Formats: sequence, structure tokens, C-alpha cells
Amino acid sequence: MSLIDLRSDTVTQPTPDMRDVMTRAEVGDDVYGEDPTVLELQRYLADTLGFEAALFVPSGTMSNLLGLMAHCERGDEYLVGQQAHTYKYEGGGAAVLGSIQPQPVEMEADGSLSLERLAGYIKPHDFHFARTRLLVLENTVHGKVLPLDYLAAARRFTQERELGLHLDGARLYNAAVKLEVAPREITQYFDSVSVCLSKGLGAPVGSVLCGNQAFINKAMRWRKVVGGGMRQAGILAAAGLYALKNQVARLADDHANAARLAEGLVELGYTVEPVQTNMVYVSIGDQASRLAAFLRDREVVISPAARLRLVTHLNVGAADIETVLEAFAAYRSL
Ligand SMILES: *Cc1c(COP(=O)(O)O)cnc(C)c1O
Repeated sequence: MSLIDLRSDTVTQPTPDMRDVMTRAEVGDDVYGEDPTVLELQRYLADTLGFEAALFVPSGTMSNLLGLMAHCERGDEYLVGQQAHTYKYEGGGAAVLGSIQPQPVEMEADGSLSLERLAGYIKPHDFHFARTRLLVLENTVHGKVLPLDYLAAARRFTQERELGLHLDGARLYNAAVKLEVAPREITQYFDSVSVCLSKGLGAPVGSVLCGNQAFINKAMRWRKVVGGGMRQAGILAAAGLYALKNQVARLADDHANAARLAEGLVELGYTVEPVQTNMVYVSIGDQASRLAAFLRDREVVISPAARLRLVTHLNVGAADIETVLEAFAAYRSL
């Protein structure tokens, strides 16, 4: 029996078909711009998301960092959610490596940032202050989808104030599948977008940053500086292309499995936050470590937390959800 790992959608295994295309990928030295498969992946994402250019990088953290460094200079500032990945979970990279100051802003319950609140954080043009240059949004954000009309309003807001607008779209495709729109309907509002291939899409490695050509040229320089230039990276890009062409529509299964999991947990008496995509948040309180150990004996893996996050993905099937619910039921009846 194999483990049912609900810690994250990063734990997916490449499928046999994905491994097959990886072994056959045409490759070259990508630092020389000569890897045909990397070029194809970059072209595919730039075209489908509506940008001039794109850049393949090893991780989402690097993709966001290069995006911030391409938008901002030393002494500039970006507006970002207090609980956003680009503020809280990237080691402070923008400040450490980019000399860019974050201005964290409390997030609304739906994951958006209030435009009114943001307006109050924009600094006047005065040498006492960092120069506010950029707004960063995340979508999905903790499993929630930002509404398209909010994105349109954020676009107008940033245009009026001459700010750039970057999307941390680690789970852009979950948002698009949930809204039943082409991903471009979401990305059209942004100057730049970072997407992860190694989350729900199921590729082993990689993210892609998209933007206009001048922006990507800057990002390419910073990628080399931080050591992210890769050589025969087409083997990895092939996995990404395969994921984009074959493993997007199936995200709807992950969303359905998450909804079923939430429903079952509510039936067992748990307090569960409304589910939109592939993340289920459950209030566990101080029981988290005990619950984790109990579930682990039943081949179910979680990251213990009082506000427990359960994530569905490629390697969690509908039958696994029933197994998980049986394990929770057994725990409940202790
Ligand atoms: C995972 C993730 C990233 C990037 O993470 P890496 O592990 O560096 O690829 C960025 N933003 C969000 C919202 C994420 O979930």
C-alpha cells in the first residue's frame, strides 16, 4: 500500500508518460539559448498567457525573485500580502538579494488586498521614503481564486498610480480551471506572471516567468547572477510541456476530491473552511501532532498544524479520499 500524502501538491511523482518524453527530449546548452525544448516551453507559455517572452527557471521562489528584481531597483518597494508567498515564504529574498523593501499589507478574507488599504501604503515622492513601484498578487491564494473583476480593478489601480503588477501564479491553472476560463483571461491584467510546473501540474522541477522582452532580458541577467542558468535543461522543460498539455484539465478532479474530503470531514463534525480548489483547511486545535501520528499509521501523511491544510493532487484518487475519511472517522471515535 502506498502513502496518501496530503501535505502539498509538490509531492507528485512524474507519470510514466512524462518520464518517457523526458528521456526523448531534444536538448542543448540553455545558457547559450540553444536548448530547443526550453525555447519551446518558453514560447508556449508566452503565447498562451499573452506575453512577449518567458524564462524557464529552477523554482517558483527564483521566478518571483527575478520578477521583483526586474521590476524594481535598489531602494524600491513592492506592496504584498502579509501572508503572501512572495513576502513570507521566500526567505526575504527580495530584500536580501534585491535591496527591495516589502510593504506587507493585511489580506482580506477572500485573499485579495483592499485597493483602498493599498492606496494608504503608497509612499509620496520624497527622499525619506522607498519608491513604491510594484503590487504583487497571488492566485490561487491559499486555495482561493481571486475574482476577475477584482483583477480588473487592481489593473486600473496600478495604472493610475504608475505601479507594475506582478502575479505569483504558482497555481494559476487551478484558478483558471475553477473559473472555467482560459488562463489568459487571468494573466491579461498583469505585467508579469510566474507559474509553477511542479505543483498541481505534476512536473518534477521548474517555474516560468513571463513578461515583455525588456523585462525578461533583465530577469535573464539576474537568473545568471543567482546561479539559475541551466545547461541541458530541456529534459526538465519537456516534463513541463507535457504537464501543460496533458495535466491541466485533470485539476478539476483534484478540486472535486478536495470538495468531497471537506464534505466528509464536515459530516464527521470538523470545522472546515469553504473549499474552492485543491486545498482543504480544517480546524484541529492542539490535537494536530496526535492526529498526524494516528493517520501516519494508516498510511496518510499530513503536516500537523492547528489550522490543518490538506492538499489534493495527481497522486490522490477518489478512493484515497474515502480511505482518508475512514482514518479520520477512526480517530474521531477513539
Ligand atoms: C510553491 C509556491 C511558490 C514557489 O515555490 P518553490 O518551492 O520555490 O517552487 C511561490 N508561490 C506560491 C504561492 C507557492 O505556493
